[in-house]
Amino acid sequence: MFKDAIALEELMGDNIRNVIIIGSGPAGYTAGLYTARAMLEPLMFAGYMSGGQLMLTSDVENFPGYPKGIGGPEMMMELREQAERFGLEVQDRNVDRVDLSERPFKVYSEGEEYLTHAIIVSTGAESIWLGVEGEEEQKGRGISTCATCDGAFFKEQEVLVVGGGDSAMEEATFLTRFASKVTLVHRRDVFRASQVMYDRAANHEKIEIKTFRQVKKWLSDDSGLTGAVLEDPRDGSTEEIALSGAFIAIGHTPITGFLEGQLETDEEGYLIHRDHTMTNVSGVFAAGDVVDTRYKQAITAAGLGCQAAIDCERWLEENEH
Ligand code: NAP
Repeated sequence: MFKDAIALEELMGDNIRNVIIIGSGPAGYTAGLYTARAMLEPLMFAGYMSGGQLMLTSDVENFPGYPKGIGGPEMMMELREQAERFGLEVQDRNVDRVDLSERPFKVYSEGEEYLTHAIIVSTGAESIWLGVEGEEEQKGRGISTCATCDGAFFKEQEVLVVGGGDSAMEEATFLTRFASKVTLVHRRDVFRASQVMYDRAANHEKIEIKTFRQVKKWLSDDSGLTGAVLEDPRDGSTEEIALSGAFIAIGHTPITGFLEGQLETDEEGYLIHRDHTMTNVSGVFAAGDVVDTRYKQAITAAGLGCQAAIDCERWLEENEH
């Protein structure tokens, strides 16, 4: 350990936390549960919108242990309660920035500085939304960014998928299990999707692909989403389409801005694991969607949270904290 850090530790004594967890989705709460049960007295910054992406989901039917399904927000409250029972301290505040240049690390929230030996980053990723008129009111209701989560609510109904990558193809194909018809719209006629996934969607009898279409506006009434106005970007001409559900699959952005480039990421901004769940900075771990470019499920995030907590506990032990 650095000489200055040792001096600082002596001065600060008990004010240095063992571990600070940043982010409160399934990864964060699972890391909180494990580190709390390991008597590490973890502190979590849950963010102003604690609970992560699941707060936007109505029913979760694919998390093992809930045979009747559970509401996304309710599940997050239960995960929090479970971790708090073992001593996780939660602050519903955002982390503004961190300083990982020396140990103990510094975490800043609302102008206050916190010192910690280890950090678990589990801030997740945000789906990119279109941001067009009528979207805000229908988020998490008629308009979703997760077919796996919400597809089953649209049995025998007509739905729209927006996007031209693998996610859009996957969502459209998955939605054919429930919907009577899936229309996929893409803003140009070249697809980023892999050929195999494009073919699977394009050849499906329930899927219609419309190129050179982007959503200009969502239409809704008291019953919910009713349709969309689609625009052809080439000439600005428009058409209306009737639908009850829409799925936006135009990519995700990992939430890493507060790290200000101090941790290594891939070209899309996802954090990179270097030693199991540890990042390129020794003592800083990452779990959940902030590292996951592939699965993006609540259960896989929880699994990574568990791994990060165990790695963190071992690292603290090896480093005699
Ligand atoms: P992506 O490959 O970046 O595709 C995003 C799509 O959204 C593109 O077609 C893009 O159109 C479109 N788009 C972006 N902004 C838009 C906007 N404002 N309005 C309309 N359309 C917009 O993202 P992804 O599909 O989420 O895939 C991300 C990564 O995960 C990829 O590497 C993919 O292979 C991988 N993935 C793999 C699987 C699998 O193997 N099972 C499944 C899902 C994802 P343009 O092309 O015109 O830019």
